[in-house]
Amino acid sequence: MNAAVPVRRKVLIEYLREIGIRDERVLAAIAAVPREIFVPASFRHQAYEDYPLEIGEGQTISQPSVVARITELAAVDSRDRVLEIGAGSGYQAAVLAQLARFVFTLERLPRLAEAARARLSELGYDNVSVQVMDGSLGWRARAPFEVIIVSAAAPSIPRALTEQLTEGGRLVVPIGERRRQQLVRVVRHGDGFEESSHGPATFVPLVGRDGFQGQP
Ligand code: SAH
Repeated sequence: MNAAVPVRRKVLIEYLREIGIRDERVLAAIAAVPREIFVPASFRHQAYEDYPLEIGEGQTISQPSVVARITELAAVDSRDRVLEIGAGSGYQAAVLAQLARFVFTLERLPRLAEAARARLSELGYDNVSVQVMDGSLGWRARAPFEVIIVSAAAPSIPRALTEQLTEGGRLVVPIGERRRQQLVRVVRHGDGFEESSHGPATFVPLVGRDGFQGQP
């Protein structure tokens, strides 16, 4: 490993503290994941900068501050089963896997799914499974989940997903227009759902029935 990498990761953790990430478990999870492995080789020197990077097929790896915020909002416990929709590079799934019992991550593009699976297995994550699947309706066969994270933007809260939460379960999803969204958290209480908004985000569109129709 390039000797500068651990230093850059440490600088990133200090930056995340400065912008208000408070959960020490989340900071430790991010400190443990080598983000440079999840970005294309030509971008490795930018792996610890706080912006999204292209990962091919028109998709992006989310910026570290957004991964941190989403993970903090999800309040992941070590007993939790987590569903992520939009595996992309696999980075967010790796961060979640540091905290959860098990992470199912769904990706509609086979080439990205294959690359994510290879990275996660090379890094020794044995509590993550990457499935090639349209996740816009969640994964009913494996539901319910304590945590559902949508790593792509949806026009409104996908109701199929809220139904797949456990009691007390948390859904975190960027909601809004194609190019600008708000991070929304939905917490299930019985048949009721408590919604709150947590600042701006920019994600590629969720494709599918409860996402944006047609091609991204
Ligand atoms: N979490 C990723 C970033 C995701 S980018 C990371 O850490 O790198 C969003 C991803 O969602 C893209 O790879 C896109 O192909 C995928 N996606 C979009 N709509 C989807 C759907 N309906 N089901 C599964 N994956 C979807």
